[in-house]
This record gives sequence, structure tokens and C-alpha cells, in this order.
Amino acid sequence: MEKKDAYRKLTVEGEKKTQWICGCFETVDGFFKFCKEHNDAMRKTIEAQIDELDMTMVVDENKT
Ligand SMILES: [Zn+2]
Repeated sequence: MEKKDAYRKLTVEGEKKTQWICGCFETVDGFFKFCKEHNDAMRKTIEAQIDELDMTMVVDENKT
């Protein structure tokens, strides 16, 4: 029972759908939570994708 409560606190985003041994997991809502090791790598990947998509256009629009 205690374990279930702890599990809930750790996954406020929703139920885990897929979990990898390193600690990364995907919730049923499609939310990805990365472990400390992969968080940095994934952020770099996402930042690189944003650069490719030229998302800066949207940021400029919001500023003005
Ligand atoms: Zn990981």
C-alpha cells in the first residue's frame, strides 16, 4: 500500500506506460520523463530539432 502512494507521488503526470531500465519512462498521456543521464541528451536533441524547424519565428512573433 505504501509503495502505491510513493508511486503516485513520483508520477503526478499520469500512469506509466513504458519504463526503461535506466529510469526514463513514458506515461499513458504521452508525457516523457527522462532520467538524469538522458535528460541532458534529450534536451540537446529537442533543441537541435527546434533549430531545424526554425521555431525562432514564433518567438519573434510573440515578442512584438
Ligand atoms: Zn534514461
